Amino acid sequence: MSLSLQTAMAADQVNNSEQEVRRLSVFGSTGSVGVNTLDLIDYAQKHSEQKLQVVALTANSNVDLLAKQAIATNAQFAVVADDSKYEDLKQLLQGTDIVVGAGESAMLEAAEMEADWVMAAIVGAAGLQTSLTAARRGADIAFANKECLVCAGSVFLDAMKQGGGRLLPVDSEHNAIFQVYDFERPERITRILLTASGGPFRTWSREQMAEVTVEQAVNHPNWSMGAKISTDSATMMNKGLELIEAARLFPTPSDDIEIIVHPQSVIHSMVEYVDGSVLAQMGTPDMRTPIASALAWPDRVESPSAKLDFGRLSDLTFEAADPEKFPALRLAREALELDGLAPTALNAANEIAVEAFLNRHLKFLDITAVTEQVLGSFDFVSSKDGITLENVLEIDRVARKKAWEVITKLSA
Ligand code: NAD
Ligand code: MG
Repeated sequence: MSLSLQTAMAADQVNNSEQEVRRLSVFGSTGSVGVNTLDLIDYAQKHSEQKLQVVALTANSNVDLLAKQAIATNAQFAVVADDSKYEDLKQLLQGTDIVVGAGESAMLEAAEMEADWVMAAIVGAAGLQTSLTAARRGADIAFANKECLVCAGSVFLDAMKQGGGRLLPVDSEHNAIFQVYDFERPERITRILLTASGGPFRTWSREQMAEVTVEQAVNHPNWSMGAKISTDSATMMNKGLELIEAARLFPTPSDDIEIIVHPQSVIHSMVEYVDGSVLAQMGTPDMRTPIASALAWPDRVESPSAKLDFGRLSDLTFEAADPEKFPALRLAREALELDGLAPTALNAANEIAVEAFLNRHLKFLDITAVTEQVLGSFDFVSSKDGITLENVLEIDRVARKKAWEVITKLSA
């Protein structure tokens, strides 16, 4: 075969693959990351050759928004996890071809559907089963749901390996690290510098934090996000969970992952190499940038997010993280050192404590205090090996129960 024919055939293949429809599902489509993802998909559809088709959208209970999204994207399947909302969703989608589902089994059906790329944006360990199912099926997973990796670590990574899809980090820090990390030469990396904004209470004293309200906690200075992750950012447990997430995603020893506070959230994280080079990824604090990176990787796609204006970036500052003021940082480090099922318990206790805080049953500083008590109540020494989905789910359940017990005692 002549070289020009080979080149022409190769070009033809590229054209064909460009014409191929890419099937996408979004789990947690009504949340902050979900809405940004659909916005980005809409934009990408208008600005690139690639044809995109939405397969499944899922939500917990917001059927009004879910139905609107399903109609706007012409999705094949819309699922609400709360099965009492089934009739409402059905009603809202009457007269369309969109198949409606509700409850746990429909969520798993959505995850079984043939999508090439799945956005995992359910909040908390509630996203575990759908992520595992999509991972085993071999989908590329755009990964926002950090709790899933903290809770189920090796179980989730094994499911990814089994399926053969790519794990594409969406959490802005991990997406940043992913973009500048030399996976072929990890031994040439000396440090991962995980940046943190420091949250809304970076400059507050512990005394001031004792009286923090829900409204203050969910009001993040740089990012607009869901209530749970905003609260985690305020206690800095978000950075703790991200430390564990980074340790799972990148083959760098966890002792070489450092948290550094960078209040402007312009640098989204950095990787340092043996020769002293530090590579950073930067951008405005807009989740559509890391989502776009995960959608197109290793290619690039246009995103509607604002571009950095370097003329106006007068101050980029850095400071050490303070585990005395934010004990969640210490707890997460301890759970990571224990490894095994300790991060599972940490995550579960934190989820319950945050929920109790958001429902005004718990004071802000007690979120971390409850988590610490629950973590300290386990003997993890013997549970390092043989982690299975069953023992992950068991520890998750027990830790939640213990967290409720501690909260009940505190509020008695
Ligand atoms: P959110 O609360 O705004 O949205 C959560 C989504 O999950 C919603 O669609 C909700 O309907 C769904 N959901 C909640 N509970 C559910 C359940 N029990 N079963 C099924 N679905 C359920 O949260 P978010 O801020 O979009 O965050 C989503 C995930 O992405 C979290 O793991 C968070 O840590 C991570 N993340 C978020 C951001 C951000 O900018 N918001 C950034 C980085 C990482
Ligand atoms: Mg993050």
